[in-house]
Amino acid sequence: MTAVADDRVAALADAGVDEVRVAFQQWLADNAAELAPFKHLSTQVDEVFAALSRLQKLLYSAGWIRLGWPDEVGGLGGPQVLRAVVSEELAAAGYPPPFSFGTQEVLGPAVARFAPPDLAAEALPRLLRGDETWCQGFSEPGAGSDLGSLRLRAVDDGETWRVSGEKIWTSWAQFADRCLLLARTGPVESAHKGITALFVDMDTPGIEIRPLRSMNGDDEFCSLYFDDVAVPKSRTIGEVDGGWAVAMFILGCERGAAAWQRQAWMRWRLGTLVTDAPEVSDATAGEALTLVHCLRLLSRRTVRSLSDGDHVGVLPSFDKLMMSTAEKFLFDSALRSAPDTLLLGEDESARDWRSDYLYSRASSIYGGAAEIQRNIIAERVLGLPRD
Ligand SMILES: Cc1cc2nc3c(=O)[nH]c(=O)nc-3n(C[C@H](O)[C@H](O)[C@H](O)COP(=O)(O)OP(=O)(O)OC[C@H]3O[C@@H](n4cnc5c(N)ncnc54)[C@H](O)[C@@H]3O)c2cc1C
Repeated sequence: MTAVADDRVAALADAGVDEVRVAFQQWLADNAAELAPFKHLSTQVDEVFAALSRLQKLLYSAGWIRLGWPDEVGGLGGPQVLRAVVSEELAAAGYPPPFSFGTQEVLGPAVARFAPPDLAAEALPRLLRGDETWCQGFSEPGAGSDLGSLRLRAVDDGETWRVSGEKIWTSWAQFADRCLLLARTGPVESAHKGITALFVDMDTPGIEIRPLRSMNGDDEFCSLYFDDVAVPKSRTIGEVDGGWAVAMFILGCERGAAAWQRQAWMRWRLGTLVTDAPEVSDATAGEALTLVHCLRLLSRRTVRSLSDGDHVGVLPSFDKLMMSTAEKFLFDSALRSAPDTLLLGEDESARDWRSDYLYSRASSIYGGAAEIQRNIIAERVLGLPRD
């Protein structure tokens, strides 16, 4: 593996987007033989997890994953947009996102911004290095779209919070070392004004994790049960009762920056569709490309704004809606173009298409359902009345 010296990567951080893109493309080409196994992952989720953690460590030790993160959290500096370049080029070359990539862009910026600085300095480098993974404990039975009604409670007990309640649909919690958890600290009727964000070690006594099987066959998400779990007050992220601001910041990153990785992956997947299913018509491939490109443009605006430190507000709702529209169109096209392969095929490629098709159904649910994004756009952008 060709290591890139820190000083050269630091110089790249100053050099700008195009130079980083070319240097990373070159590194991927130079190391193609050693990276090849990452293109053919096992179907066993724990083996996938282990392989993608290895990829994460590899990219960290070569310096690439540290670009665009500040020095105080283990980064090499440079604008945040460099992270988008690395994730895009990785996907364009056909590699899966390393395990923490999603978490990194969804939860990482919130920890960098809202956590006590010593906690951010300890935890973020471990995430970037691939030494630990995190999960996002927001949804509860009865509190998904209506997140402000969540009930998991954190009671003030002096130096600690005592946390009790339930979370659901927590992705990859069975592998996670920490959870960014939203808890009710005010009265139930305080709605979004009585929520606090906590950073919880998943091996704390009193946490039970039960994996749930999704329809593509993976144990992707989990139910979490908290029974009087002690969480140090030093693990409070942001203000007490100010968790809504943290949650909205995270959802902005999830709907915006995470969509960037998805568009890069979809563009690559569209290329494989044209190869694997030559029956796909030019008109269908063209429409899919247009949708993916629209997502790219929307997400590009969000990534640029986040990189410049601008407030993105509710605009990433457009990205999220476009993301699920493009993803469903792409995989509906795959099903229509090659139904026998997708429905009945038994080789690795057919299994991947089937799994990706089934997962694409979730794209209009996770990170906030499509109906909710439409409501946000209608009320907050177009100024239409709530009723
Ligand atoms: C693959 C996947 C991974 C996930 N990972 C995580 C995770 O890591 N952490 C986490 O916390 N959560 C996670 N989730 C949960 C996700 O955030 C919720 O499923 C989502 O917010 C919807 O909430 P819900 O399932 O409770 O559905 P509900 O809120 O019950 O909604 C059901 C339906 O009603 C519609 N609806 C609800 N309210 C309105 C309204 N006001 N107007 C119009 N329509 C409405 C919705 O759009 C939806 O179609 C994940 C979900 C999926 C599918």
